[in-house]
Amino acid sequence: MKEIIFLKIIDRKIPADIIYETEFIIVIKDINPQAPIHFLIIPKKQFKTISDIPKEEFFYFSEIFTAIQYLSKTIPKADQYKIIINNGEKAGQCIFHLHIHFLAGF
Ligand code: 5GP
Repeated sequence: MKEIIFLKIIDRKIPADIIYETEFIIVIKDINPQAPIHFLIIPKKQFKTISDIPKEEFFYFSEIFTAIQYLSKTIPKADQYKIIINNGEKAGQCIFHLHIHFLAGF
């Protein structure tokens, strides 16, 4: 049940390195980093993809971009970064709980 891995992390049922957390999102280190810095920004509410966030919950975009700015301004060597969102299996999504890849430290 790959979908619920992030919910288990959010509920502290399985461990993760937590970098940042608000009422609505959590940022963790990716278990299999593809760059020297590789974080996942995860809404605590399970949306499958970015297209599944309803208009009345668009404040999640603000939460996500606030996290991106926080990470880029506070984490050493993270001022230059890539953000990647895989939406759907054919686009490379493996875990169907929306997450934003934050890659840096190049
Ligand atoms: P996707 O391919 O769905 O965009 O990315 C899923 C990401 O989740 C991958 O980069 C993978 O390494 C990461 N991941 C999978 N399982 C775990 C886990 O249990 N803990 C953490 N921290 N990351 C995970």
